Amino acid sequence: MLAETKFAAEPLPSPALGEPYLLTPGPLTTAYSVKQAMLRDWGSWDGDFRAMTAEMRARLLALTGDTRDEFDCVPMQGSGSFCVEAMLGSFVPKDGKVLVLANGAYGLRAAQTMQYLGRAYTLIDKGDYLPPRGDEIAAALDADPAITHVIAIHCETSSGILNPVAEIAEAVQAKGRKLLVDSMSAFGAVALDVNDIRCEAMVSSANKCIEGVPGFGFIIARKSELEAAKGRSHSLSLDVHAQWAHMNKTGQWRYTPPTHVVAAFLEALRQHEAEGGVAGRGARYVRNRDVMVAGMRGLGFETLLKDRWLSPIIVTFFNPAHANFAFDRFYELMKDKGFIIYPGKLTVVDSFRVGCIGQMDEHVMRRVVEAAAQSLDEMGVDTAAPPAAAIAERAKLAA
Ligand SMILES: *Cc1c(COP(=O)(O)O)cnc(C)c1O
Repeated sequence: MLAETKFAAEPLPSPALGEPYLLTPGPLTTAYSVKQAMLRDWGSWDGDFRAMTAEMRARLLALTGDTRDEFDCVPMQGSGSFCVEAMLGSFVPKDGKVLVLANGAYGLRAAQTMQYLGRAYTLIDKGDYLPPRGDEIAAALDADPAITHVIAIHCETSSGILNPVAEIAEAVQAKGRKLLVDSMSAFGAVALDVNDIRCEAMVSSANKCIEGVPGFGFIIARKSELEAAKGRSHSLSLDVHAQWAHMNKTGQWRYTPPTHVVAAFLEALRQHEAEGGVAGRGARYVRNRDVMVAGMRGLGFETLLKDRWLSPIIVTFFNPAHANFAFDRFYELMKDKGFIIYPGKLTVVDSFRVGCIGQMDEHVMRRVVEAAAQSLDEMGVDTAAPPAAAIAERAKLAA
């Protein structure tokens, strides 16, 4: 039996189990103890499992810093997108209108969700990687009094940009509108203190910065919004109010809960606390990013984003200009060395991404850089410098 993961010297490497590290933004590399927590079956109606659900909700709420007891936590079956859809369908009235702040795939997915819901929305689309700013949000809200809600993406995982959520919240509050936050890939590692940042609801999921396995997400919302959501949802199974009311009354999930996933998540939450909560988790990810980015830059790679907007979650690099570079081959060579990287999602230039989250530390990130150096060598690429078009693309960020 393997020892528990600790980051004192060399962490327990996931490859000890014969698996590559997942340098991806979830599913990600989990601790052995998190996997081990799934080796038992639980009855969904049983008191033991109800206690686990209650403990999980309390632990998640504690991470928001809600000292005034204004919020509650509602777990919801499905992946993160199910929770975004549940949030939009439950908190936006049928005659409401949403301003979607998009700068990547997840913002556009929120807009697409509004389309499916058949509810009014308008879009500020900043392209692949420019952040939405307070002044343009204020102008959009002034121009359209029908807008009732704004949805912002905390960390836009498609580029890795950390959006200025405090600035966004301030602009939304100043105009008397309501803010919903997709904090999927930031919650648990980047502080979003509800005492400082005004929002009505936020969502995240089990397989991101808390480092659980996939299977459910959770909505953290003001109780007043949860009350007001009654009868509003377009969907039976994604009705946040109904799930909340049922859970508060019975302690149970409305429909079959992902029992093993919840057991694993509770273990992940205990490890999160042992690491120092949001601050401790965030500090390790920042270190992961800084070590990895410095090493990759040393090989000639360049990041899409300026340091100011680089999240500690995932980093986008331009593909090297060298004629011998091919992403598919690079991917396979990295995988052979125990590291699964992530393709890019930009429209203009070719790129790839490296995640900083999951059970890994700076020692692992140094090995990632070594693996990248070796892989380039094997491909006959002597510098990872990007093409001129990529640099021109990035120059737009100077704005
Ligand atoms: C992961 C993620 C989601 C949800 O994606 P799923 O594949 O449905 O889990 C939504 N928004 C952001 C910003 C994400 O990173």
